[in-house]
Amino acid sequence: MLPISDYHMHTPLCGHASGEPAEYADAALKSGLQEIGFSDHAPLFSHKDPGIAMDLSQLPGYHRTIEDIREKFSARLTVRIGIEADYMPGYEKETRAMLAAYPYDYVIGSVHFIAQWGFDDPIQLMEWDKKDVNTIYREHFKLIRQSALSGLFDILGHVDLVKKFDFHPTEDMSEEIEENARTFKKAGVVVEINSSGLHKPAGEIYPSQAHLKAYRKQGVLITFGSDAHKPQQVGRDFDKARDWALAAGYDNYVMFAKRKIVKTVKL
Ligand code: ZN
Ligand code: FE
Ligand code: FE
Ligand code: ZN
Repeated sequence: MLPISDYHMHTPLCGHASGEPAEYADAALKSGLQEIGFSDHAPLFSHKDPGIAMDLSQLPGYHRTIEDIREKFSARLTVRIGIEADYMPGYEKETRAMLAAYPYDYVIGSVHFIAQWGFDDPIQLMEWDKKDVNTIYREHFKLIRQSALSGLFDILGHVDLVKKFDFHPTEDMSEEIEENARTFKKAGVVVEINSSGLHKPAGEIYPSQAHLKAYRKQGVLITFGSDAHKPQQVGRDFDKARDWALAAGYDNYVMFAKRKIVKTVKL
């Protein structure tokens, strides 16, 4: 069976997604999904950028909009309210307070920054030339582990986003990957299978098979997300995402409500 839930999609509030939330829900119905969750980019505390994330003042409107969609589609589609929040060391307190201010069905924790560098931002691509690729990978994985242990997040988003531009380490990263897997298990976080990587220079689902197999061995659970920034991307490549999970040994995934796992679904 194809995954019936897509937990990663955006809204125009983040400044770089298009289409109304109702159009995402319509697209979900057309592609046969039974459940979706919105997870737009949460306000950043390190710096302001209207092209990257919503502002704190937009959070109430975000919730009102999704509640509204939830009601409108309730007979045909389960709509969850999530959010994709950045992990920024030093801003844990602010992040915790922000996440506590509204009810969520789940919170996706993502690492898009190493210090202030947006390493997955095409505009900041030249920074890659100035740093050692192995160091970047190690720094990224360390931040991912810190994000897991922070207790702020239920699901970790695109945990090998660092491969986005198809730059790959020249050193063996298997120890890092094993340590990630052990840390995720210990922290009790779920990992997302994110199909959007197929449409990036890397051309591969996040995370890679090496990662997923290590997580599977540790008993780390998974969800599925398209990371749609347009309605027509909802549920995109979920056939490939399912096969990716199966290839790593997974035969089920989980669903959330009120920040708890409420269901395990067979693949
Ligand atoms: Zn985005
Ligand atoms: Fe992201
Ligand atoms: Fe996203
Ligand atoms: Zn994302």
